Amino acid sequence: MEYYQYGPEWAGEGSTGMIHRIIVRMGLLIALILTGCANGDLEKTGLVKVADDVYAWIAPGPGAGDGLGANSGFIIGTEAVMVIDTRYTPELAEELLEAIRSITDVPVKYVVNTHYHPDHTWGNSVFAGVGATIISTRETRDDIEKYTPIYLSYYRDQKPQAYRQLVNVKMTLPDSLVLGRTVVDLGGISAEIYYDGPGHTAGDVFVTVPRTRTVFAGGLVSNGYHPNMSDQGVDFDNWKAILGRLATTGIDRVVPGQGMVSSPDILRKQQSYIDLVIETGKNAIRKGIALSKAATGTILPGTEGYRQENMVPFNLQAVYKKYTFDVVAPSFKLDLPEGFEVKEGSGSARNGRILWTSRSETGYSEVEVTWQPTHRVEIILQDIHDRVTDFLVANQEYEMHIAGAEDLQVGKYMALSAYGRWGYALGSGKSGSGLWEWVMFLHDGKAWAIKVSTDAGGDRDQEIVNMNDTEAAIAGMKFTE
Ligand SMILES: [Zn+2]
Repeated sequence: MEYYQYGPEWAGEGSTGMIHRIIVRMGLLIALILTGCANGDLEKTGLVKVADDVYAWIAPGPGAGDGLGANSGFIIGTEAVMVIDTRYTPELAEELLEAIRSITDVPVKYVVNTHYHPDHTWGNSVFAGVGATIISTRETRDDIEKYTPIYLSYYRDQKPQAYRQLVNVKMTLPDSLVLGRTVVDLGGISAEIYYDGPGHTAGDVFVTVPRTRTVFAGGLVSNGYHPNMSDQGVDFDNWKAILGRLATTGIDRVVPGQGMVSSPDILRKQQSYIDLVIETGKNAIRKGIALSKAATGTILPGTEGYRQENMVPFNLQAVYKKYTFDVVAPSFKLDLPEGFEVKEGSGSARNGRILWTSRSETGYSEVEVTWQPTHRVEIILQDIHDRVTDFLVANQEYEMHIAGAEDLQVGKYMALSAYGRWGYALGSGKSGSGLWEWVMFLHDGKAWAIKVSTDAGGDRDQEIVNMNDTEAAIAGMKFTE
């Protein structure tokens, strides 16, 4: 596939390029000796000259006033300027435009959105206002269109303080879509835009400047920041593969989406970070650690001092979501209604649990299956009563009412089921209510418990529909041993 060959004219080159690289590296080494700093002047924030005609705008910190730590950049040709990412607000985009104007009068004709996240795209309107064509993948365009109104109304309603900075944000969609490799001639210098499949999001591109061996990596690389690995479109494997391919193309400079300009070592470092989070999460799942505990108590060795630590719980959550079922390898199949996704779980086929959740227009539902070895030969209603009581003692924000009990066929097993209504206790500060059902049976030397709850926003008919759909799926549960 053509687009796997990033910058063919400078990747895999002959000895001239190699000598050039050695000279560049010797130069860097001297710079290192002189300044005690591998990147010399590059290791600063604000406007940074990366190479002739190539600039980065490095956010000073992760705060909203600094644009959430997201970097931008620009490339200056004789005919056109290309901007890479437009910062978090129109005000911050204006600041970037002023920085460009302080260096050149060449018109900004192109903007690339490396991905859809607000801190990289919400300044788009400013550049559209000066006549720039905004370029992205279709995935990025669609995600901007889908999520911008959702995020803005979330901030407006839930975070009025943060929203004050966002009042001037106007959704501005890319108007030129790219796929694979796209070369843009800016006059005397060209930029190459690559889409190599999903990574940090479904639609990430990176931009290379072959003449200066620079890459603007967008969301694919964070330097000294915990990256966000929790986007719906994230693809851990392909993300690592993209970084691996980029690392072999002879790049000298990486402008990351967050953090300082770096040598290409950052590409391998980013791969290692992704591996570290995945392995840490998988180990926690194996050890039977619930997501809530893993998310709050985990330290990732080697990332001390990284900014944006609030990303770690989300990143682990993404690992639980993707790998729980594979790691736990439970001995059953459960085809829940559409919309249910594995949220978390832990343990093994012998002793473990899996939790699915589903959020849709018809409400929110949870199904949790737990299993543990037992020598008991029968289950009596008292078991469910005890479990419900234990649950309520441990979770005092809930109130549960037991309406009745019945037999329920689960695969070839006769299970005992209890059911009723639940609601948040007065004074818990939460509102919500719905139906619950607790199903227990014995199979393969284990006691199985399936806990279901649905909340249809108070719509009692819908509650019953949701519960019936879920119950039908449980009745069809199949065991693989
Ligand atoms: Zn991002």
